[in-house]
Amino acid sequence: MEDKKTYASPESYAMNGGKGPYSYAQNSIYQAAEAAKEKINKAIADHFDIKTLSASLNLVYVADLGCSTGPNTFISVQNIIEAIKLQYISKGVHTEIPEFMVFFNDHVSNDFNTLFKSFPPNKQYIAAGVPGSFHGRLFPKESLHFIHSSFALQWLSKAPIEVMDEGSPAWNKGKIFYTNAQKEVVEAYATQFAKDIDSFLFARAQELVVGGLLALFIPAIPDVMSNSDTFIGTELDLLGSCLMDMAKVVSLQ
Ligand code: SAH
Repeated sequence: MEDKKTYASPESYAMNGGKGPYSYAQNSIYQAAEAAKEKINKAIADHFDIKTLSASLNLVYVADLGCSTGPNTFISVQNIIEAIKLQYISKGVHTEIPEFMVFFNDHVSNDFNTLFKSFPPNKQYIAAGVPGSFHGRLFPKESLHFIHSSFALQWLSKAPIEVMDEGSPAWNKGKIFYTNAQKEVVEAYATQFAKDIDSFLFARAQELVVGGLLALFIPAIPDVMSNSDTFIGTELDLLGSCLMDMAKVVSLQ
């Protein structure tokens, strides 16, 4: 007998909504979207095999996981659609270009209103929002042809419990990240990431059609570098130390 399915959403913290000076929409220009274009084009040209996918594929389902409020998600989706269309034209499988249905996913607390209000005026797809954590199932089995996620998978589902436990060798002394921390802390974060990526891949494996593609863009650092050498590492250290000072002030009052 099959397990009873649940699609519950855990607590989530999304990016700043709206379009104000501190919003994600105003502070996220570029990141990976343009740079990723070339890689997506090549992956689709080499591996998006229309003949394997279906002889009568006239509706292509695409999903962007961790889309935030735009505008990067729109650039990524446009790139994907153009590259798939090119496949249809160059392979001459169909005389008609298929229709595209695009699902925009993020945490339930994401500002989907801003996202929906910002769609490019000439978008060539039918759009829908899918709220919920990508660490669990979001879509029916074998329903998607192309899944994309950019700069989102580095977010863990939660902070590892050990780093908050004073009695544990992995206690991180109130810090919010593992920059300059002892190896137990780094390992606790790495273990949490391994669990999260496992659930992510397990869910996607069910949702993709046979022959579908998964494109993941994840910030990473080379093995030879320590996290303390990176801009993001030092930035998070500074942010963490400010938060700890603020928490101290609050507890003194
Ligand atoms: N893909 C966009 C946004 C990246 S910001 C871009 O490239 O600009 C990362 C996004 O991932 C945030 O909006 C955050 O809310 C979302 N995110 C993080 N963890 C998530 C999860 N478990 N499920 C769904 N979205 C998540």
